[in-house]
Amino acid sequence: MRKKIVAGNWKMNLNKSDAHILYKNLESKSYPNDVEVIIAPASIYLDSFSNASKVSISSQDVSANDNGAFTGEFSAEMLSSMNLRFAIVGHSERRTFHKESDLLIFQKVKMLLKHGITPIFCCGESLSDRESKNHFNIVKSQLSQILTMLSKKEFSKVVVAYEPVWAIGTGLTADPQDAQDMHSFIRGLISEAFGSEASELTSILYGGSCKPSNSRELFSMKDIDGGLIGGASLDSESFESIVNSF
Ligand code: PEP
Repeated sequence: MRKKIVAGNWKMNLNKSDAHILYKNLESKSYPNDVEVIIAPASIYLDSFSNASKVSISSQDVSANDNGAFTGEFSAEMLSSMNLRFAIVGHSERRTFHKESDLLIFQKVKMLLKHGITPIFCCGESLSDRESKNHFNIVKSQLSQILTMLSKKEFSKVVVAYEPVWAIGTGLTADPQDAQDMHSFIRGLISEAFGSEASELTSILYGGSCKPSNSRELFSMKDIDGGLIGGASLDSESFESIVNSF
């Protein structure tokens, strides 16, 4: 049975006091035992949430380099020294605003795996890719390095998040069947690369304007194993309701 996961990506939101209030609210709730609940606060707050018990803590990013002269960055080794178990990589905002390439994202994945941290690897097409019916090719090429250059053992630690860029923060959600089609396509690619058992064990999350009103339908799809939640993760009631929609 693959793991169900709901991860909240707080992005660059919340001052210290508001971040702590949200964290405390989330820690006071109860969640189904079989769902891994993750929050990804801004990196400067990560260490102050290290005592979390109900939720796991994720970074929103990581450097592709080992420790050294990289001003402003933080390494996988640093995350591991804070006992973090997850890090998001390849988010479309990093790909767009920081021009992150598939190769750089792959290097980040390698670095996380080297330090025992689970990468939440994001992929997803733009609106023009979808309109030109190129979305499957785009997602395939974004996944190509992790599917061809990781070992099966390394890949078994990876969580995939399919996030159509046109749905992120826009209020537009992928039609559940369209999302399912892409998740099934991704699972097929994993099966080709590592075999059907590995593909059946990989959690594939959906992200893009997921909210309490649509999470139940999305999560009921056969190949959707949870969500990566942006805006709705900043409200504890909405986030709890998404987690409980499984
Ligand atoms: C995200 O940024 O990962 C995301 C899914 O955002 P939102 O839920 O706000 O669309």
